[in-house]
Amino acid sequence: MNKFLSFCKKIGNKFLDIVFPLNTKCIFCNSEIVDFDKKPYCDDCEKYAFNKGAKCIKCDTRIKEENKICDNCKSHKRYFEKCFCPLNYEKAVRSSILSFKDSNAKYLAKNFAKIIFEYIKDENLQFDYITFVPSHKTSIKRRGYNPAKLLAEELALLFDKPCFELLQKVSQTKAQKNLNYNERAKNLENSMILTNAKLIKGKTLLLVDDVVTTCATANQCAKLLKNYAKKIYVTAVARNHLKTEKQN
Ligand SMILES: [Zn+2]
Ligand SMILES: [Zn+2]
Repeated sequence: MNKFLSFCKKIGNKFLDIVFPLNTKCIFCNSEIVDFDKKPYCDDCEKYAFNKGAKCIKCDTRIKEENKICDNCKSHKRYFEKCFCPLNYEKAVRSSILSFKDSNAKYLAKNFAKIIFEYIKDENLQFDYITFVPSHKTSIKRRGYNPAKLLAEELALLFDKPCFELLQKVSQTKAQKNLNYNERAKNLENSMILTNAKLIKGKTLLLVDDVVTTCATANQCAKLLKNYAKKIYVTAVARNHLKTEKQN
C-alpha cells in the first residue's frame, strides 16, 4: 500500500509539474535562479533584456538622442499616441518570446504581462478598454491560441479593465519579416476589420501585441480603431529595434 501511495504521489507531482511548472528558472534563458517570485529572470539576462536608454518618444525604438522621434515615426502617420515595449527582442529574450508565440509556452503570458504592467504603471495611462492585435483563424488553429490575446487577458486582470476582441483578421497576410514599412502596411490593408465600433466610440484603448518591429501592424489596427475611439496606446512585450532609422 505504501508503495502504491508513493507511486500515486510521484504521478501526482509529475502531473503538477506539467500543469504548473515549478518556477525556479529564468523565464528567458532557463538558468536556475534563487528568488523567482521577486524577479523571474537571472542577473545576466537582466543586463540586456530591458529596453532602456534613448528611445523614440512615439514607438519606443532605440535612437541616438533622448526625447526625439525616430525617422520611421517621422515619415509615417501614427494613429496611436505612444507604444510601450519593456523588453529588447534579443538573445534569450527572443527565444523565450518565440516559444511563447509558437511553441505553446502559454504560461509565459503571466510573467510577460507583469513586466509590461511594471513598465507602464508609472505613466499613469488613462484608458477604458484593453484589446489586442488579431490573428487569422489559420494561425490560431496552428498555434492553438493568439499570444497577443493571452497577454491582453493577463493585462486586463492587472489593470482591472475589461478586455474586448474588437478586430478580426479576415485574410492571411504574407510573412512580414522581410518587408519594409510600406510593404508591410500595404500587406495589412484590408486584412482586418473592426467588429464592434459602437462599443469604442469616444473611448481610449490599450492595444496589445506580442512583438513590434516597424509598428506597421499596430498602426494599422490603431487606424481602424481610431475611426471611432478617441485615443489608442500600444504595448508589446518586446521591441525588435530598427537597425538603422533610415532602413524603414
Ligand atoms: Zn537568464
Ligand atoms: Zn519611432
